[in-house]
Amino acid sequence: MPSDERSDDLVVGSGSPPDALALLRAFRTVVWAAFDERGRLTGANLGFAALAHQLDGAPDPERAAGVFASPTLEELFARPVDAEGVAYRGLLTVVDANERALSLRGAAARRGDGLVVLAEHATEETQAALDAVLRLNEELADTQRELVLARRRLEAREEALKTLAATDALTGLANRRAFLDHLEASTQRVTRGHAAALLMLDIDDFKQTNDRWGHPTGDAHLIAVAHAMRASVRAYDVPARFAGDEFAVLLPDADLDHASEVADRLLTAARAPRGADVPNGVQVSIGAIVLRDGEPAEEAIKRVDRALYAAKHAGRGRVVAADD
Ligand code: GH3
Ligand code: MG
Repeated sequence: MPSDERSDDLVVGSGSPPDALALLRAFRTVVWAAFDERGRLTGANLGFAALAHQLDGAPDPERAAGVFASPTLEELFARPVDAEGVAYRGLLTVVDANERALSLRGAAARRGDGLVVLAEHATEETQAALDAVLRLNEELADTQRELVLARRRLEAREEALKTLAATDALTGLANRRAFLDHLEASTQRVTRGHAAALLMLDIDDFKQTNDRWGHPTGDAHLIAVAHAMRASVRAYDVPARFAGDEFAVLLPDADLDHASEVADRLLTAARAPRGADVPNGVQVSIGAIVLRDGEPAEEAIKRVDRALYAAKHAGRGRVVAADD
């Protein structure tokens, strides 16, 4: 509360510092203002004058109420009082002469029909606390920025892992699992009226290549086939390494004629020499089918395998397009 020496602080009105505010003894520096029942300023100390609109001189009785931003003076008047006449204790947000909002510890008490409001001045301590809060806020913003960046890196890594899990490491083509996912989706599209064809390709006498020239040369043959496949299909076709020396291509929106054409092109492309390791190109056999309405993916694989076997059986290095 305003101590005895502070009673000299009175700068406007006629009253003395309010006794009820002995309650606020804990406050070290106090600003106070008293209002009548109509909210007009009847007394205040210099601290309040500084908070209000003019530093030297009396605050404007009409405008002083506007210093209280939250709770407002009207709200303070409307509150019930406790046994000691106190209507409010807590943070008072006030607006100072520079239109800056300050949150101060304060209280409001009824005095007759009027109201006395007191608040603790912003001290060095509260300024230090405010600075600390601002610093913490900045650190929090930094941490949030870092979190956003970390989350983006994680998403990129997850995406890369997903791609890796769907890719054959040697050839860079889709792997068996990814291909079966595509095939499954495609068989569902066929049911909705979109034709699609399937090729299955197997290198001829590949064991001999491995046995004669070694595994790394065998790998070069596998890579050569992948290259020929990429060169022979459309952007939305799906070439894949199905297993070992077996490759598959899904051809959306293709009939058997188109599938046979692609297979022939592929056969020719694979025969082209490719570097020192594949001087004679690669000979392959290919089976081709068109997906049937409602056909399960495994069933389609079985049918195209039969067509591929027929190509092998008929002498290898050829295409068998089956429409049974
Ligand atoms: P066919 O004409 O009947 O297909 O005869 P083939 O010798 O090609 O027989 P098959 O297709 O059964 O042989 C597949 C071979 O592919 C067997 C295996 O050693 C080889 N192979 C499987 N994966 C790899 C690989 O990643 N690298 C290499 N170099 N060879 C592989
Ligand atoms: Mg083979």
